Amino acid sequence: MLCIMKLIKCVSLLILLIFRYFIFQRAVLEIKPICENCGKALPGNSSQAMICTFECTFCKDCVDNILFNVCPNCGGGFEKRPLRPIHLLEKYPVSKTEYLKPVDKDKFQSMLDKYKGIDPDKR
Ligand SMILES: [Zn+2]
Ligand SMILES: [Zn+2]
Repeated sequence: MLCIMKLIKCVSLLILLIFRYFIFQRAVLEIKPICENCGKALPGNSSQAMICTFECTFCKDCVDNILFNVCPNCGGGFEKRPLRPIHLLEKYPVSKTEYLKPVDKDKFQSMLDKYKGIDPDKR
């Protein structure tokens, strides 16, 4: 009886590990190498990189002084991008896609008027 319990425990642990493996494989954050607005380099270990929930990536200067914590693509707020551990950068490297799309100030203004000063969780 004890043996069967141990077996069940082992099997459930294995299932959990397989499940976690697939989740990890599918949901890797894309680390974009530059600020979308000003083109400033934002390597994987940069403490200046900010992202929205869609991984739109900007430098902290642009987020604070130009975007005022409003993502020009989705209207959401920004958080600091987490740093990927160095030992995983080889397997999950920084993206090579340099997505540069400077903010169109006229188009952005209406979104800014709508969301600036409103907490991201209430937009
Ligand atoms: Zn920038
Ligand atoms: Zn966004």
